[in-house]
Amino acid sequence: MFKALVIEKDDAGYRAAVKSVDDGALPVVDGGVTVDIAYSTVNYKDGLAITGKSPVVRKFPLHAGIDFAGTVSASDDPRHKPGDLVLLNGFGVGETHSGGLAQKARVKADWLLPLPHGLSLKQAMAIGTAGYTAMLCVLALERHGVAPGSGDVLVTGASGGVGSVAITLLARMGHRVVASTGRMAEADFLKGLGAAEVIDRAELAAPGKPLGKERWAGVVDSVGSHTLANACATTRYGGAVAACGLAQGMDLPGSVAPFILRGITLYGIDSVMAPMARRAEAWGRLASDLDLARLDALTTEVGLEGALAAGPEILAGRVRGRLVVDVNR
Ligand code: NDP
Repeated sequence: MFKALVIEKDDAGYRAAVKSVDDGALPVVDGGVTVDIAYSTVNYKDGLAITGKSPVVRKFPLHAGIDFAGTVSASDDPRHKPGDLVLLNGFGVGETHSGGLAQKARVKADWLLPLPHGLSLKQAMAIGTAGYTAMLCVLALERHGVAPGSGDVLVTGASGGVGSVAITLLARMGHRVVASTGRMAEADFLKGLGAAEVIDRAELAAPGKPLGKERWAGVVDSVGSHTLANACATTRYGGAVAACGLAQGMDLPGSVAPFILRGITLYGIDSVMAPMARRAEAWGRLASDLDLARLDALTTEVGLEGALAAGPEILAGRVRGRLVVDVNR
């Protein structure tokens, strides 16, 4: 038996609870790998899964959790041996395949990455999918040529998981980071992560003009909707915006003006099905570039019951930084 945060949906309705389940509850995966999980996390998508607010879970019953780090306990694939330390993000885990908010998982060997050198299992999940996605955004800006010293970089949803890790990464690389937040009371926290300036998200959240004053060399946006449209409208000539989230909304109510008059580029960032080479690059850079003292400062640890309680909190924008889940606590 092991503990898992189980999502169920039947005639009695949609519900989530921490339960003891039998090993037989693990999915059958030919050529798969069984992992004793040490840590998972609570991401925005986990909040959607736990509350059922959006139909991210499409198979029932299912163990929630879109990411995990742990130790291989059994393997039918030569790439992963018992005792190996591994991590997983996405690939539908926690959506259509039982996931990381559990003490055990059985997954496809192709989905696992070795734990990067320099990171503990806990640090890997303090980063989690949100932090890995922040790095995918930063890499998109870097590839575009947004170099430190080339101008201000805006990070929206700054106090959240993606935002707080993005600030930490960009500041360490030498960028001047402007953090946009709805929680101005967290300004000192955001400056402690490396933000040079903190602005109220109200500046960006309302319907805006097709073009505004040119402000940003680059943008990491986890918010979408008017915020993303306004970020594009205020990006400097030739600049780039990396869009990964929808905390404000899934819409994009902007115009083509920033694209055809200022030549800006909008990069879409997906972490779930990102190819392995891109994942390995992002995790390698997280291991080498992330300030682990600052990661510690933005991380709070909870157990599986705490993860359950955090579901509605993260959707309400009340979680600061990252929540790492010790599934054995
Ligand atoms: P968090 O909840 O930790 O962070 C989101 C932040 O957005 C909040 O902390 C808040 O920051 C801000 N926010 C919340 N509601 C609103 C609103 N109504 N209007 C404007 N800003 C708002 O979530 P994550 O960091 O885990 O994820 C952020 C987004 O990125 C989510 O939409 C998630 O689905 C997406 N995502 C996408 C991935 C991909 O593969 N594309 C992977 C990972 C995440 P503040 O209080 O500072 O304003």
